[in-house]
Amino acid sequence: MRRDFNGLARDIFDLIVIGGGIVGTGIARDAALRGLHTLLVEKEDFAYGTTSRSSRLIHGGLRYLPKLNFRLVREDRREREILLTIAPHLVRELRFIIPLVRSAPFNRFALPVGLFLYDIMAKGKSLPSRQHLSRRETLAEEPCMSAIDGLVGSYVYADCQTEFMERLCLENAIDAAGHSALVMNHALATGLRQDGGVSAVQVTDTLSGDEYQAHGRIVLNAGGPWADLVCDKLNVDGTSSLRKTKGIHLLTRKLSETAMFLSAGSDGRLFFVIPWQGCSWIGTTDTDFDGDLDSVFAEAADMHYLTSALRDYFPDFKKDDIFHTTAGLRALVAAGGKSASETSRAHRLVDHETRDGIKGLVSVLGGKITAYRYIAEEAVNLICRELHVQAPCSTADTTLPGAPSVQTRILQEAAGAAGLSVETVAHLAG
Ligand SMILES: Cc1cc2nc3c(=O)[nH]c(=O)nc-3n(C[C@H](O)[C@H](O)[C@H](O)COP(=O)(O)OP(=O)(O)OC[C@H]3O[C@@H](n4cnc5c(N)ncnc54)[C@H](O)[C@@H]3O)c2cc1C
Repeated sequence: MRRDFNGLARDIFDLIVIGGGIVGTGIARDAALRGLHTLLVEKEDFAYGTTSRSSRLIHGGLRYLPKLNFRLVREDRREREILLTIAPHLVRELRFIIPLVRSAPFNRFALPVGLFLYDIMAKGKSLPSRQHLSRRETLAEEPCMSAIDGLVGSYVYADCQTEFMERLCLENAIDAAGHSALVMNHALATGLRQDGGVSAVQVTDTLSGDEYQAHGRIVLNAGGPWADLVCDKLNVDGTSSLRKTKGIHLLTRKLSETAMFLSAGSDGRLFFVIPWQGCSWIGTTDTDFDGDLDSVFAEAADMHYLTSALRDYFPDFKKDDIFHTTAGLRALVAAGGKSASETSRAHRLVDHETRDGIKGLVSVLGGKITAYRYIAEEAVNLICRELHVQAPCSTADTTLPGAPSVQTRILQEAAGAAGLSVETVAHLAG
């Protein structure tokens, strides 16, 4: 990848993507794989925004079941399977344990039903099904649960984790560039002008301060929480599109072997304890945010909420056990009257020609990492229709650049099954 600013003026792009988070890079990759001449500009470095501050889960959407959002659950479970296939080096199975306690009979009866639905809604899934554990089995799996008052057992279920989220984002950018897209970081989109049916986007190289102009048939705003600000820069009124909520994480000493799905004593909200690189991530919170989007931090009240919730399960947890914090912003499609946690996590594509009379401008609002490939497919389908191009999406079957070849994967699977090293199996296979 080269930051080739002089390349901006060379041609008219089919598509200019603003924003290099997982959604923008996923869209650039999909478009480039379909042969669209694509430009991606990111104002900081790739994954700078919400993408690098997430819980790093590729989840089937268990949280959405109580809201009876079956469509979202089905969609997320399908995408989880696809990501296990196209990015097996970055997405791996993660076991979660949910404690069952005597004082929460609802959980003891509702949870088996929820997990049963969660299992049957994934046709052809590769992950193991849920499992009920007695109190004794639970403590054998996770001895730290002995501190939980009234523990009667637990459920274990499987979801996925992408430990190096930034890498997933970067590999989408690398593959877009590998298919002739021009992909640039530290490139801020500052304005838009209509120029005879073509859009001219002003771009500033934030390292040198130099200004450039790029021409494109379609401009796509993948600014995540900045999407409204990107609209402002492009002279489109986007002020009421998004609700932004802050979520923080604490990186702590390792608290458990298995990921835990727990409920906070103060308000019943669910939170995670997730093993990561010999430590644990604790998250997350969900509070409305209307400050400076580039100055988002874990504040004392956020940290107090999570540490209090955690102490119900880990009574000896100390402030000194926290090594690091992160804070990111969810960009939710605004829905009046709902609490932050109740607001839908579904995404929306906005065609600004239909909404605001501005031809050739599309915004992606909301969404999540798990669904990024599908969001990109939907967005590029729309763009292809507008450009009168017929090119099918191939991202569900095309592995990311860092994925091992099919041959290596077969060797790895055979080695795992036989309990031998990959080198030995390769040698035996000749
Ligand atoms: C606390 C938290 C935990 C989460 N956990 C999960 C999870 O475990 N699993 C999951 O699936 N989802 C999770 N999500 C949701 C998920 O992280 C987001 O939906 C996703 O990362 C959004 O990606 P994006 O590309 O839309 O936005 P972003 O990653 O924010 O990318 C937008 C990019 O646009 C750039 N940009 C903005 N303005 C301009 C401009 N003018 N010019 C150029 N570039 C610009 C920004 O610098 C930024 O890099 C979580 C969210 C939060 C807040």
